[in-house]
Amino acid sequence: MDYLEIWEKAKEELKEIGLPYSMWIEPLQPVSFDNNNMLLVTAHALAPQLIKSQHNDKMLSALKHATNTDASYKIFYDEDYAQKYQKEKKKELLTRKKQPTKEEIMMNNLAQMQSSANLNLKYKFSNFVVGENNRMAHAVAMTVAQNPAKKYNPLFIYGASGLGKTHLMQAIGHYIIFNKPKLKVKYIKTEEYFNELIKNLQTGGNDKTNRMDKFRQKYRNVDVLLIDDIQFLESKTFTMEEIFHTFDTLHNNNKQIVITSDRLPKDIPTLPDRLRTRFEMGIMVDLTPPDFETRVAILKNLAEMSGINAEFSVYEYIANNFVNNVRELEGAFNKVSAFADIEKTDLTLEFAKKVLKCEEQSKQITIFDIVEKTAKFYEVTVDDFLSSARNQKVSNARRVAVYVARELTKMSFEAIGEYLNKKHTTMLYSYDKIKTDMKTDRELENSVKEIIKQIKG
Ligand code: ADP
Ligand code: MG
Repeated sequence: MDYLEIWEKAKEELKEIGLPYSMWIEPLQPVSFDNNNMLLVTAHALAPQLIKSQHNDKMLSALKHATNTDASYKIFYDEDYAQKYQKEKKKELLTRKKQPTKEEIMMNNLAQMQSSANLNLKYKFSNFVVGENNRMAHAVAMTVAQNPAKKYNPLFIYGASGLGKTHLMQAIGHYIIFNKPKLKVKYIKTEEYFNELIKNLQTGGNDKTNRMDKFRQKYRNVDVLLIDDIQFLESKTFTMEEIFHTFDTLHNNNKQIVITSDRLPKDIPTLPDRLRTRFEMGIMVDLTPPDFETRVAILKNLAEMSGINAEFSVYEYIANNFVNNVRELEGAFNKVSAFADIEKTDLTLEFAKKVLKCEEQSKQITIFDIVEKTAKFYEVTVDDFLSSARNQKVSNARRVAVYVARELTKMSFEAIGEYLNKKHTTMLYSYDKIKTDMKTDRELENSVKEIIKQIKG
């Protein structure tokens, strides 16, 4: 029997689940059946977790009956497939005689809206764990979602990489699509916007003006524009100009704008004042690394979503070892659970340790460690660091410490500046200088590596 037949047979049995069957199971596309493992593709980002957590037993039993073996299965979400599926589904709805059910229409409409808005189904408020580090940002984002273009416009969310900016921004989009379906939402990464713009500009031909008009309309003809990672604009003057006009058009027409960035507008070099003041005119909220409790809560939420059960000490172990970046925190958990899945073992602390091999001491790196180790490396004192001494040796050591602090702790430039008793612009300059110099100065690069090694211990 080939995999298509197996899946057809299994589907017969799965139909009895009722409505969830037509929503989640029926759209699954079989890809292969190897080593007793059925590989399926889905167009719904949430389907893999949802099926695993709610219909796992049914899936396993249907596959068992269809194959007469203890077959397992794996479901992948695939964007290309998602697009193709949505197109076909739409065509089918349009052409077939039978009236689609209300649920089908609703699901289809939502899927359509979500994919045209460019959102990832995982990034919703319901999947966002609130802790001290993001309480304010979450509350403001929720207010914006409930009152688009009424209260805070623009909303500017900033913070280091992997702390939930994109998640929070898209959660606003999902909320509006679900609750105010008349509003048109668009999510765009600044880098993709830039690439699209360049492509439009570089292609010649007579319809260039036309094309540019279309391009502009696409982003100016919406009710909610979500612009992710605006720091990418740095020095891209033409794109800045476009964003500037798009911003003004939307803002003047009372449309909501949400922007994310890994730093404050004033820390994006070469951002012109007229853009900076616009970005600052609404509200600015920051995201910082989550504390231990929040990290554990994020992991438990992730496990619940994926229908995974782990020993509590596994969450603690991972939360202790991945402190500054939620993406890495989640990555560690996903790795452990994928390995456990493959080896068909329970998720125990021992297993997690074997997979992740984190160094045992897992202390959080503090700015003090960094200053101390860097000072020692360059044979200066900690007092020199905090003083206003400007001799080359001290200045250089100080700049390296700023660079390392930013790399290892993701502290803001303000926070580093506060500690070192210096202006945040100086901190920013120090960071950029070391980063640039390291590209050409091998000795500096090695020193930085050595210092980082010593700090990590
Ligand atoms: P950023 O855009 O700031 O780099 P993302 O929004 O991409 O970060 O978040 C990285 C990962 O961490 C995503 O998978 C996101 O779902 C997850 N994440 C971040 N913060 C939270 C949170 N508070 N609760 C749940 N998941 C979170
Ligand atoms: Mg992001």
